[in-house]
Amino acid sequence: MGTRQTILSGMRPTGKLHLGHLVGALENWVKLQGEYDNYHLIADYHALTTDPDSSRIWSNSIDMLLDWLAAGVDPARSPVFRQSQIKEHTELHLILSMLITAARLERNPAVKEQVRDLNIENVSYGHLGYPVLQAADILLYKGDLVPVGEDQVPHVEIAREIARRFNNQYGAVFPEPEPKLTHFPRLPGLDGLEKKMSKSAGNTILLSDSPEEILKKMKTAVTDPLKVRRNDPGRPEVCLVYRYHQKFNPSGSAEIEAGCRSGALGCVECKATIAGVIASHLSPFRERRAHFESRPGEVTEILADGEARARARARTTMAEVRRAMNMG
Ligand code: SF4
Repeated sequence: MGTRQTILSGMRPTGKLHLGHLVGALENWVKLQGEYDNYHLIADYHALTTDPDSSRIWSNSIDMLLDWLAAGVDPARSPVFRQSQIKEHTELHLILSMLITAARLERNPAVKEQVRDLNIENVSYGHLGYPVLQAADILLYKGDLVPVGEDQVPHVEIAREIARRFNNQYGAVFPEPEPKLTHFPRLPGLDGLEKKMSKSAGNTILLSDSPEEILKKMKTAVTDPLKVRRNDPGRPEVCLVYRYHQKFNPSGSAEIEAGCRSGALGCVECKATIAGVIASHLSPFRERRAHFESRPGEVTEILADGEARARARARTTMAEVRRAMNMG
C-alpha cells in the first residue's frame, strides 16, 4: 500500500501535434505527472498497423517528442520511449495473442470504426490485433490506469479481459487496468463545430504554428452562416470561433457573445482576437520547443534515458511472466 499507481499513455508518431492534442491529452499528462508514475509511449509499431510505410517514423517521432517536452512533460519523472526499442512489447504481445479469440477482436467497435474512417478494404492480421499490442503496452508496465476518451474504452476492456485470462491461466501477475476517462470536450477543427481537429482532415492549428500562421488559419474558420455582413447579429452557439473563445479566452467570452448577438462585433475582428489569444497561450510552448529543437543531442539523450528506464521495468515484468508460465 502507499505505492503510486502507474499510468501508461501514448500516441502514434504522426509528426507535429495540434491544439486538439494539447487540450485532449497533453495538459492532462502534465497535470498527472506529480501524482502517478507515468510512462509515455511513442507507439511506432502501432503506426504500422494502418500504414506500413516507415520512412517518416523517426522524424515524426522526434517532432512529436519535441511537442511533448514543450508542453511540459518532464522526462526525468515520466520516461518517454519508443515502443520499437523495447523488444519485450513484441514478446508479451505474442503471448497475449494466444489468450483472445479472433472473433472477439473482429467484434471490437473501435477497429470497425477505424476501418470505415480510413477506408481500409482488407484488415491486416496486425491491425486486427492492435488492441492486443496495446494490452501488452499497458500490462508490461503493470499500468493501473489508462487515460482514454470514451471511444477507446473498448480497448481497455480487451486489456482487462486478457489480464484476467493470463492471471487465471498462469497465476496473478497483472493488475486489471482501469480506463481513466478524460472529460475534455473534443476540440473542433477549423472546418466546423461537428468536425474533430485532426491531421488527416487538414483542419488543425499546430502547437508550433507562428502567430502569423495562426491568424492566417483562423481567417479560414467556419462561422455562423447567417452572419453574412459585419453588423448582422450572430449565433455564437453554432460558431466554432466562439467555442475557441470559451476554451482559450474564458474571461472575455461573455463580451464576445454579447457583441456577436447584437451585431456590434464582426467576425474578422472576433477571429483576430482569438488568434492573438491562442498565439500568446502557445508562446511559452514555442519557446520551449525552440530550446529543444536547437539541441538535438539533448533530445536523443532524453529518449535513450527513457528507453533504458522503460526497458528495465519491462524486463522485470517479463521475468515474472516467464516464471509464472514455467518458461524461465
Ligand atoms: S462574431 Fe465571432 S462568435 Fe460571432 S459568428 Fe462571428 S466569429 Fe463567430
